[in-house]
Amino acid sequence: MASSFIDKAKITVRAGNGGNGAIAFHREKYVAAGGPDGGDGGRGGSIILQVDGHMSTLMDFRYKRKYAAANGADGQGGRKTGKDGDSLTIRVPRGTLVRDAETNEIMADMSGDEPFVLCRGGRGGWGNSHFATPTRQVPRFAKAGLPGESHEVILELKLLADVGLIGFPNVGKSTLLSVVSKAQPKIANYHFTTLFPNLGVVWVDEGVSFVMADIPGIIEGASEGAGLGHDFLRHIDRCRLLVHVVDVSGSEGRDPVADFEAINEELKQYSPDLAERPQIVAANKTDILENPENLEALRAHVAALGYPLLEISAAAHQGTRQLVNRIAEQLSVLPPVTVYEPEYVPRRPAVDGSAPLDIQHEDGVWIVEGPWLQRLMANVNFADYESRMWFDRALREAGVFQRLEEMGIQDGDTVSMDGFEFEYQK
Ligand code: GDP
Ligand code: MG
Repeated sequence: MASSFIDKAKITVRAGNGGNGAIAFHREKYVAAGGPDGGDGGRGGSIILQVDGHMSTLMDFRYKRKYAAANGADGQGGRKTGKDGDSLTIRVPRGTLVRDAETNEIMADMSGDEPFVLCRGGRGGWGNSHFATPTRQVPRFAKAGLPGESHEVILELKLLADVGLIGFPNVGKSTLLSVVSKAQPKIANYHFTTLFPNLGVVWVDEGVSFVMADIPGIIEGASEGAGLGHDFLRHIDRCRLLVHVVDVSGSEGRDPVADFEAINEELKQYSPDLAERPQIVAANKTDILENPENLEALRAHVAALGYPLLEISAAAHQGTRQLVNRIAEQLSVLPPVTVYEPEYVPRRPAVDGSAPLDIQHEDGVWIVEGPWLQRLMANVNFADYESRMWFDRALREAGVFQRLEEMGIQDGDTVSMDGFEFEYQK
């Protein structure tokens, strides 16, 4: 038996590209040639993941697999910075693991409430106003924006049943489960609709779905340890709502009120805790109702206990949609399943600054290159003082300045890093 029921979806996400820097020159009437005033491109929007406590499956990701945040706008003349692209927040159920699709490494465990930045937007390119130096007063170039990060990831969620089906054998639990978890044409190609004969995902509406589980074993001795595996019962234990299916047709000579009470008694013995869960009563097999008094007696009985009752015919698909909506409505006001044991520790690869950088001296320009330098620079906002200081410190700690000194760099020399040019000052 499977130890857990895993819901999976593979999606592609792309953060927005940075806008390009502008090449522009200040123009005024009667002024022959103004200085460069091209503004910077805006930053691309990021892809952010956020837990939504009301989601319990990854079903929505079956319909939409590609996500992209907005690009930053290009800079403009007059030192106008382009508008930043809007970030895109993707909502996921609590407990979703995010894995790199290539390596299968865990990138994040979405158990907490802090948002996780999955892909960062590209930095905007510098406008030409940044590139004026005393010797280069008419810079006819600007930097292009950097591409946003993109990633293919696998979302993975251990499914826990939101709803448990209880009732005597043969009352129609399996029929109901198969009808509500398969009947929607939209979910026909959903890989995990029937994860296990006793577990199904019910799609209600965009962003609304739940997991329903049959608990056939209770009355058949599961409370004494027979039948279902421990793992399965663990999933059931956490369900937030029970749907109590009762055969009201009278076709087998059963008394619905006595059946209802017998199951509740059994449930209490199996788990007093579970017996306290809210219930919705599904009066089934109304298509072959022989004694309407049976139905009315059950209705009066459960009304006195404060449970809602819905008439259905699982086999004829009658009233099942209403039942699903009613379940979703009640789930939306019940507290979400709260207990998730973290099984993995998230980790992210660190930038390895120990790899030496390559330094060349060509035509009076010091060209510094290396893979981690690029990553480092992607994290720097050169328009921000603190960010520049952080960059400076990182280079110093990596010994870059010391090496440049050893190689004979002079004050005022040009240093080129990843296409950016700086004037060297001690
Ligand atoms: P379970 O043991 O509670 O899972 O019950 P099943 O779903 O296996 O159903 C038992 C029998 O009742 C099957 O023969 C079903 O076709 C039948 N059944 C289920 N729902 C209905 C219904 O709404 N009307 C009628 N007439 N038969 C039903
Ligand atoms: Mg069954």
